[in-house]
Amino acid sequence: MDRKKIVAGNWKMNLTVNESQNLAQEISNQIATIETPNTRIIIAPTFTNLYPVYHHTKLDHRLEIAAQNMHQAVKGAFTGEISAEMLKSVGVNVVILGHSERRQYFCETNEALAKKIETVLEKDMDAIFCFGEVLEDRKADKHFEVVERQIKEVLFYFNPEYFKSIILAYEPVWAIGTGETATPEQAQEMHAFVRKLLAEKFGQEIADQVSILYGGSVKPGNAKEIFSKPDVDGGLIGGAALKAEDFTAIVKAIN
Ligand code: PEP
Repeated sequence: MDRKKIVAGNWKMNLTVNESQNLAQEISNQIATIETPNTRIIIAPTFTNLYPVYHHTKLDHRLEIAAQNMHQAVKGAFTGEISAEMLKSVGVNVVILGHSERRQYFCETNEALAKKIETVLEKDMDAIFCFGEVLEDRKADKHFEVVERQIKEVLFYFNPEYFKSIILAYEPVWAIGTGETATPEQAQEMHAFVRKLLAEKFGQEIADQVSILYGGSVKPGNAKEIFSKPDVDGGLIGGAALKAEDFTAIVKAIN
């Protein structure tokens, strides 16, 4: 099984242009000194910093640039929104979609997310699709049910071919930015569950090829243990992605 390992840093609404360029450069310099066989390393600055980071920073060729969101329409009267083609034109090749903050604060629905993913793939970019339960669901033992619905509603109508360009990220909402991490066993259990859902619908070969990342308070100190689980193929990193040493240490933990 040659699934890609992936470490992706979501910078959220942080950093000015200069700060983003400096952080990208620092990460790039540190990455340049390590071997990362079979690992994709992705950073996701905010929209206004994508172009400067991609075009005005000399980055290690392994660093890929992601956007944190995108509109599903190809173009048109959607004031304040950003299209797939715009992102592609500034060097983006991956788009994070369905982050819990987008679902919670910007009312993103599974229906809209399915369209967004299709739009991303039509432009030959990859999508990182985030899903995960809130604390109440976990406490009520409904986490599998909730995740199953998210996976089915967004991904189950897709052509199996799409999965070459889809990366999944399990992000239990109660673990995001809280310092509370799912245990490696909890992550493995959910990742295996999702892979089984994909296998039942699309076949084992497709299920085995999809990388499933874990996100939720991953830090240099816990990354290795989480990444050691067989169905955990990497991490989507928030807070720790804003410090070059921490992000690089997490990249090292996967190799
Ligand atoms: C995230 O926002 O995707 C995330 C995982 O954040 P943090 O690492 O800070 O919990």
